[in-house]
Amino acid sequence: MTVSTPASTASSKPIRTRFAPSPTGYLHLGGARTALFSWAYARHFGGTFVLRIEDTDLERSTPEAVQAIIDGMQWLGLQHDEGPFYQMRRMDRYREVIAQMLQEGTAYHCYSSPAEVEAMRERMRAAGEKPRYDGTWRPEPGKTLPPLPADRQPVVRFKNPLDGDVSWDDVVKGNITISNREMDDLVIARPDGTPTYNFCVVVDDWDMQITHVIRGDDHVNNTPRQINILKALGAALPLYGHVPMILGADGEKLSKRHGAVSVMDYPAQGYLPEAMLNYLARLGWSHGDDEIFSMEQFCAWFDLDHLSKSPAQFNPEKLAWINNHYIKLADNARLATMVKPLMEQDGADFSNAPDLPKVIGLLKERAHTVNEIGVAAMLFYRKPVPDAALLTQHFTDAVKPALADFAARCASVEWKKESLAPMIKEVLAAHTLKMPQIAMPLRLMLTGQLQTPAIDAVLELLGRDTVIARLQSYLA
Ligand code: GLU
Repeated sequence: MTVSTPASTASSKPIRTRFAPSPTGYLHLGGARTALFSWAYARHFGGTFVLRIEDTDLERSTPEAVQAIIDGMQWLGLQHDEGPFYQMRRMDRYREVIAQMLQEGTAYHCYSSPAEVEAMRERMRAAGEKPRYDGTWRPEPGKTLPPLPADRQPVVRFKNPLDGDVSWDDVVKGNITISNREMDDLVIARPDGTPTYNFCVVVDDWDMQITHVIRGDDHVNNTPRQINILKALGAALPLYGHVPMILGADGEKLSKRHGAVSVMDYPAQGYLPEAMLNYLARLGWSHGDDEIFSMEQFCAWFDLDHLSKSPAQFNPEKLAWINNHYIKLADNARLATMVKPLMEQDGADFSNAPDLPKVIGLLKERAHTVNEIGVAAMLFYRKPVPDAALLTQHFTDAVKPALADFAARCASVEWKKESLAPMIKEVLAAHTLKMPQIAMPLRLMLTGQLQTPAIDAVLELLGRDTVIARLQSYLA
């Protein structure tokens, strides 16, 4: 039996995972999902979840993007235990490790100019070989290096092994083996001494004692390089799990065309964080047929098994369905604080109006977003202005006496829908009318619209005084 070293080293230590976004835009769904997996895995083992901001790409990194990541993580409740660590604040440490590697001979100064490197690559391409650095400045026992060119700042290259393979048991993809012959002597520091991307990741994962690197499979190609550098440093190797990307329903890489891809667009549209988390957890991971589960349950289940090898497809309808589920479970007072500012923007008047949490209780059953509830709830919070033509159509002479009778009975009936419903039936029977003949004009006069929840529920929420006053203004 072959024992995989990474697995045995990692499993004996406390679990430490990390989310390491580059702050170059918003927190997208794919990033949030790998963050969720890393977080849940740490929680599963009572381990530590580290947040690290990979901000070394100065041209593309912005403080706004850092904030967007932090906001997104906070909204989702993916609380980190350590960090955020910023790579830009760790430059001294990277330089220190580079100096150490130069000292130990696992890295070397390379004075080849970019033009020379390009020329050597060109020669290799022409010879049908994989283009790579030809090792001109790579020190070997007994080898004489070229004379040092004047006035040229060297890069630092990692001395990648020339032979053998790099192999790891990817937690998601299974065994991956890459020949060292395929790999270049990676530049780890630029002529000005600044470290390069893969190198910073390695030093960080090492220093932060990361045991499990869970990330998008767009990083698979970086992994053998990172493993070789870790080995050269004598560092314990983490386990790697590369999660396939999220695709749109059309099989294309997820993009704005498929709807919002930024996590923070979802609270703005009225999605609940628990719905988003539940949805993301099921994107590329499964636990039998379970679709709806809490994060507590997810953390108890999530052990990196059952991650799918094939890309997941983003399905906005399913997200909306899950959101509806959590809206139904959510406390109405909580939903009220979410919709109230939106309704105020729409001119809602909350004075002498029904209790908003109660209205929400009536409306939330079919809502796919919290914002939908806010829109629907407006009928209780603005002055009804029925369309004149509709009013003429429904408020006919034939129904006027019935409505007057109804208004009179309103004064004394017990004001709850269980009493209002039979009272309406009595009015219908007394005037030999059918339900819509009275419900439609009532809806128009009381709310200004024909589509409303059940009329008895609407009456109860509007309240006796409002109902009578609004009816009188038409009957008078
Ligand atoms: N900073 C990388 C990214 O945002 C992730 C690096 C990693 O997880 O190793 O894609």
